[in-house]
Amino acid sequence: AELYGIKHWGADSFTLSDDGRVTIQAEFPQGPVAVSLSEIVAGAKARGHDCPLLLRIENLLAARVRLLNDSFATAIKHTGYKNRYKGVFPVKVNQQAEVIHEICRFGKEYNHGLEAGSKAELLLALANLNKDSLLICNGYKDREFIDLGLLSRKLGIDCIFVIESPSELPIIIERSRAFNIKPLIGLRIKVSAKVGGLWTETSGDRSSFGLSTAQLVEVVDQLRKEQMLDCLQLLHCHLGSQIPDIEEIGAGVREAARFYTDLSREGVPLRYLDLGGGLAVDYIGNQTKHSHSRNYNLNDYCRTIVETVAEVTDAKQVAHPIIVTESGRATVAHTTLLLFNILDVLQFEPLSLPQQCPDNMPELVAEQFDLYLQSEQPSVATYQQALRNRDTIRNLFRRGDIDLRQRSLSENLFLAIARRTLDWLDSNPTEESKLPQLRHLMADIYYGNFSVFQSLPDTWAIGQVYPVMPIERLDEVPCRDAIISDLTCDCDGRLAGFIIGNGESPTLPLHNLKDGEEYILGVFLIGAYQETLGDLHNLFGDTNVLSVKINQNGSFDVVREVPADSIADVLQITEHSPQQLFEKLRVRAEAAVRRGDIDLTERQQLLGEFSARLQGSTYFNRDAGGEK
Ligand code: PLP
Repeated sequence: AELYGIKHWGADSFTLSDDGRVTIQAEFPQGPVAVSLSEIVAGAKARGHDCPLLLRIENLLAARVRLLNDSFATAIKHTGYKNRYKGVFPVKVNQQAEVIHEICRFGKEYNHGLEAGSKAELLLALANLNKDSLLICNGYKDREFIDLGLLSRKLGIDCIFVIESPSELPIIIERSRAFNIKPLIGLRIKVSAKVGGLWTETSGDRSSFGLSTAQLVEVVDQLRKEQMLDCLQLLHCHLGSQIPDIEEIGAGVREAARFYTDLSREGVPLRYLDLGGGLAVDYIGNQTKHSHSRNYNLNDYCRTIVETVAEVTDAKQVAHPIIVTESGRATVAHTTLLLFNILDVLQFEPLSLPQQCPDNMPELVAEQFDLYLQSEQPSVATYQQALRNRDTIRNLFRRGDIDLRQRSLSENLFLAIARRTLDWLDSNPTEESKLPQLRHLMADIYYGNFSVFQSLPDTWAIGQVYPVMPIERLDEVPCRDAIISDLTCDCDGRLAGFIIGNGESPTLPLHNLKDGEEYILGVFLIGAYQETLGDLHNLFGDTNVLSVKINQNGSFDVVREVPADSIADVLQITEHSPQQLFEKLRVRAEAAVRRGDIDLTERQQLLGEFSARLQGSTYFNRDAGGEK
């Protein structure tokens, strides 16, 4: 069961039960409480929610907000740092109402605030923000944005406009004078220290965001000239998301702190140093400098930031700033997982083969048969020759020199040779590196009831790898190697990168399906960025969403349930009117009745089915008796 590396990436949130099930672990003062995903799936089904199912675990979100704030508090105490930490959650990482409500609820005692990057995000942040929390406004801001942010100051909201480009300053000055409201201003700097991972372009001279050093100085001078220097309270930088290396984080923080100290020494009354996002999630769980991992833990991250800021500011005799971070991914990734059922499996197994090569076969097919006989004792050379033969035979088929039946036999022979070679590799692992593609070539395809584009868009867009594993039968050794295909008619709609042990693998070990038993896989750590980035490819809509709170006695409450999009919902999103579609079909059916092609019973059956499907799910419905 440890095959899937859950003890590495599960990070106290997911564990295994003795009976081979994945459990969610919630922390209570009396100790951890675990509830199996199978129980929650059964509870969801009983409430009318089938897979695919997006599951949100309230306890895990509360734990993350608490952990982040407590870790900074501990680092501050140990370092003797003379100021505090004030976190904000960047709304773009998960804008779902429930997530924002919960972050504000759990973050209240820490004054955990919000970061908004657009007018829509500003509105939801203004309404949800806790008292004495920060509202950091990044992104480009027009007059409407600025007016609302300024007026919110009258409610006592610490709404800070972070200037991303010099062109934003005149409008902030003009509108603040028009309203006679002092703005709170931050400046976003471009830190030249570069970070690794998938978001390296976020920092450095060519980053699309932030002020160059020369622009920064110009904006400061202008604020001084306008006698608004006291409004300038925050310095902001964002090095990139998912930064794998703590040394690089340290270098970026050091540079940002140097900007802070020199501006302070010039008389700018800065109070906040905002270091943006970047705290990585260890999706692999191996604590390495890899784009899906990180070579540090949360305590290392907090300590590096606090100690570096203290060291740089102390050296220049500048008071310690309030440290702000905008951790999004690390706050919400663990709280959401996707559960989907497997509908069917395609195996690349040979069909039955004759004992002897049939007469009059072309020379190459006969040779392939000989290789098949030889492959009773498999070898790398035999497999490689069989692969070359297979490709030559395909060419000969295209030219018309080999017929369909001969090609069929040769492909079947190749599959038999490949399968024997793969079985041999299992007991001769040192040979595997000589045939790097073979395992992938022979992997089964498990068809899952979900859409990559709707639920896991980053796997398609940026090659993000998430932990994927069955939620039960983990006390049985899996006997198949697989990749996973989704329901979309798109060859990109598949998962072909997995986490095994504490590394990556192109295939996932899975169990054989059992008759009459659902086989459900979970995709974990998907709470960041996926929900709003997901789209309607092939018109697969939002899945059912269930929010669960685990209780201390081991029971769980379903605190929120949002049914999946219906087909009518997704048609409407794409500007099709369900009523008009029904009417068009009705007219066609009526014409068919007139012509005598169908009778009235058939007409009613067709239109009844159409209406029912409009209200139904976009996903595969097992209960409808369909086989893929
Ligand atoms: N702050 C800003 C300005 C960002 O652009 C981002 C995302 O890239 C974040 C915070 C969140 O970063 P992360 O999810 O790595 O914490």
